[in-house]
Amino acid sequence: MAEKHCPSYYAATVNDTSRYPSLEGETSADICVIGGGFTGIATALTLAERGFQVVVLEANQVGWGASGRNGGQMIHAISGEDNLRRSQGPAAEKLIHDIKWRGNEIIRERVEKYNIQCDLKYGYMDAAVKNRHMDHLRKEYDYFSANGLEEHFRLVEARDMADYVGTDSYCGGLYNDLDGHLHPLNLCLGEARAFSSLGGRIYEDSAVIDIEHGLTPVVKTATGQVRANKVVLAGNAYHHLERKHLRGFLFPAGTYILATEPLSEEMARQVLPRDQAVCDLNELLDYYRLSADRRMLYGGRCNYSGRDPKSIKDNMLPRMLKTFPQLKDARIDYEWGGKIGIIINRTPHVGRINDNIYYSEGYSGHGVNTTHIIGEILSDATSGQMERFDIFAKAKHTRLPVPGGLGNQIIALGMLYYRIKDIF
Ligand SMILES: Cc1cc2nc3c(=O)[nH]c(=O)nc-3n(C[C@H](O)[C@H](O)[C@H](O)COP(=O)(O)OP(=O)(O)OC[C@H]3O[C@@H](n4cnc5c(N)ncnc54)[C@H](O)[C@@H]3O)c2cc1C
Repeated sequence: MAEKHCPSYYAATVNDTSRYPSLEGETSADICVIGGGFTGIATALTLAERGFQVVVLEANQVGWGASGRNGGQMIHAISGEDNLRRSQGPAAEKLIHDIKWRGNEIIRERVEKYNIQCDLKYGYMDAAVKNRHMDHLRKEYDYFSANGLEEHFRLVEARDMADYVGTDSYCGGLYNDLDGHLHPLNLCLGEARAFSSLGGRIYEDSAVIDIEHGLTPVVKTATGQVRANKVVLAGNAYHHLERKHLRGFLFPAGTYILATEPLSEEMARQVLPRDQAVCDLNELLDYYRLSADRRMLYGGRCNYSGRDPKSIKDNMLPRMLKTFPQLKDARIDYEWGGKIGIIINRTPHVGRINDNIYYSEGYSGHGVNTTHIIGEILSDATSGQMERFDIFAKAKHTRLPVPGGLGNQIIALGMLYYRIKDIF
């Protein structure tokens, strides 16, 4: 049974209520994309801009998955860069350098080109909880300064942190004005609208149940099918297709967000005087920002066990109040969660099942920009430009050949190590 958007702050403030029909009968396309999140829609839009006939099949609604529920933090780079570097050498180093800001650029270009109203705002800070985090941020600052971006980055010492975040939780931070934050559901819906305006076809309530392999694969739903030259599988942590090839690489993990009532202007200025997004540098991090109507959107608590907490609020509120005790009287208006796809070495899992079925999944919680980079790389690959795709596809990944639930338990156990590391 198809589901509506989860009852989040984002779903309550959508600015586009268009719905797309469900697939009935047979149709054909150059490319069939499975999944209407950022990976699927970003890929579909790029392909449509290049003149391809594309069909997107979404099991629920566009933006139903992580893309319509996330923290909205648009942060440069991809997760698992070190692994990519280690396994692919200089070619990976160049790719990592070239794509570092590409996702942010694509989002900005699309917001401007298609007039997408998604509260895009610049400003982001990595916050150091421990001195070793600060050592890391100093290195980052040196790297960006050496790459000509000094004017966009500020290394903030503990004594100056109150100018950026109204808490004494941190011993410093690294601020930049090239990353930022946005309303992810409105971005995803806006990109879907742009895709549709270019002749792209979207079918919602259209869960794919099988892919028949062949020269022109057939993608099947309960009520219809799409014959396509190429297929892109973009269901991330929510799909169960192609298990023989994909089982054991991605482990779904829950992460959760609280939204307060709108804060007074004075309180908003006190907690985040520069209205930037913030992530702390713990392995199991907290992330937060203000919404356009000044609510604190406070996220965290990655749950690797596969079980959601009984009460998101009971779990998240103490974390928020530890950082911002001044919000103790703020009413909580929304609480929700979603699944991110964790890959053991954190590098996105990108590849091909055969010559005409491509997949990308597992951004390890860092998907707003990465999905847009990958959308471009998948679009290149489906039209034969394999260079960047192959670097991802050749990355070494660990596979846990155990049933999903057991795999999650193993990951949860592994994450205990990081929880303990966060304490010291
Ligand atoms: C609570 C939360 C907070 C996060 N915060 C941030 C953040 O601040 N910054 C950041 O960079 N990243 C963040 N992330 C991660 C980011 O949201 C994801 O990496 C990204 O949205 C993944 O996009 P996707 O399109 O690959 O997957 P999804 O958005 O999950 O989309 C997958 C889609 O595929 C559909 N689907 C699944 N199976 C089928 C099928 N069989 N047939 C048809 N359709 C199917 C699903 O219905 C779903 O809509 C967060 C994630 C969560 C859950």
